[in-house]
Amino acid sequence: MQDAPLIIYADKCTGCSLCLKVCPFAALTLEPRANFDLPESRFKNIAVVNEACTACGACVEACKFEAMAIREIERTGGDDLTAYKGVWAFAEQRDGEIQDVVYELLSKGRELADKLQTELAAVLFGSHMKEKAAELTHWGADKVYLVDDPALAEYSTDNYSSTMADLIEKYKPEVVLAGATSIGRAFIPRVAIKAKTGLTADCTSLEIDDEQKMLLQTRPAFGGNIMATIICPNHRPQMATVRHKVLKKASPDASRSGEVIEEAPTLTQARTKIIEVLHEMGNTVNLAEADIIVSGGRGLGGPENFKMLEELAKELGAAVGASRAAVDADWIPAYHQVGQTGKTVCPKLYIACGISGAIQHLAGMSSSDTIIAINKDPDAPIFDIADIGIVGDIFEIVPMITKCLRDR
Ligand SMILES: Cc1cc2nc3c(=O)[nH]c(=O)nc-3n(C[C@H](O)[C@H](O)[C@H](O)COP(=O)(O)OP(=O)(O)OC[C@H]3O[C@@H](n4cnc5c(N)ncnc54)[C@H](O)[C@@H]3O)c2cc1C
Repeated sequence: MQDAPLIIYADKCTGCSLCLKVCPFAALTLEPRANFDLPESRFKNIAVVNEACTACGACVEACKFEAMAIREIERTGGDDLTAYKGVWAFAEQRDGEIQDVVYELLSKGRELADKLQTELAAVLFGSHMKEKAAELTHWGADKVYLVDDPALAEYSTDNYSSTMADLIEKYKPEVVLAGATSIGRAFIPRVAIKAKTGLTADCTSLEIDDEQKMLLQTRPAFGGNIMATIICPNHRPQMATVRHKVLKKASPDASRSGEVIEEAPTLTQARTKIIEVLHEMGNTVNLAEADIIVSGGRGLGGPENFKMLEELAKELGAAVGASRAAVDADWIPAYHQVGQTGKTVCPKLYIACGISGAIQHLAGMSSSDTIIAINKDPDAPIFDIADIGIVGDIFEIVPMITKCLRDR
């Protein structure tokens, strides 16, 4: 395979097949040397890489003969990392409305830009968005790159990724942030591939290291059991996505102003056709926006008992959340799930009922302002982060609270 990310040195490969065994992607095969016009060798076969190779390096580490190496990929813009300046936040809009996660990204972006002593820019795609573009400067952006075109009114993976990649090539930002929303998750990885750089998805913290001024991108790893801090030392921009409500948003300052720079889109031949746009169903709880959440876990014992939580939620004007155990048991639909693989929430009050407090659940709710936990096990880990812990049976306590609220 020409220009494969893996180099195999014909003079060193013994055809031992160890690399085939460790490759998680079935990207290596053993072939007779004669087929490739390779130098005579006492070893009949040679390892050959195919297009499934992701340059993960597992084979390089395993090879006892130093017969493999990862090819240094040539980046757009050459190797001069110092040519990259500025922090960008992608300003996602839906139906012309800037999404809340954007203000959170701008708040963090401002902090990072100040630490790097550079500019913060927002990047906005849409149609008839000039007014909204100017407003983004109130939230901390020094500049807004606006691509205002009817073709970008609705999200399009092809047009968004090619336009963003071209802007990156033109302006060379050192950091690019985006929301880990369905849109961000769909097109930002494609942008990273086009820019030949790395991407850390679903970060929970972003900082600048004092010495090398690199972006420290922290996210849960190994099923949430450790927090890994990831850097992107050799490529630019450093790209990261962050879920809604993970970062805090600052307040807008109407006296701030900045420059709005209009750019043309890079429109591509669409490979997908939108047949119909369906808006979220009315009965879908917007957990991410709720001020109060009453959440249930396996302790509820069955789907019928979520009714008890719905009654409490009704009295409080709350949304109903759930642990993954309750969702996996089919007691409640998946869009109620809170946690690492569910929604990240940050309500004023989170009431956890019959939830043990596994690290993956905490990853989605631990930044709630006040946490009340009700659990019959006094050693349940949820009590470690709860502001108020009630040791007892949810079937006694929850109806009691609901009654008190009703009788007020
Ligand atoms: C990669 C990965 C991602 C994951 N993502 C998520 C995620 O997004 N969200 C998530 O929630 N989990 C997630 N999990 C699962 C997580 O590890 C836990 O298994 C799950 O959170 C447990 O749910 P639970 O607390 O409801 O159940 P359990 O751990 O079984 O806890 C039930 C609790 O109910 C209490 N209880 C029982 N009866 C009563 C009663 N009558 N009154 C009071 N208390 C009672 C028990 O004492 C116990 O503490 C993930 C796991 C992995 C590996």
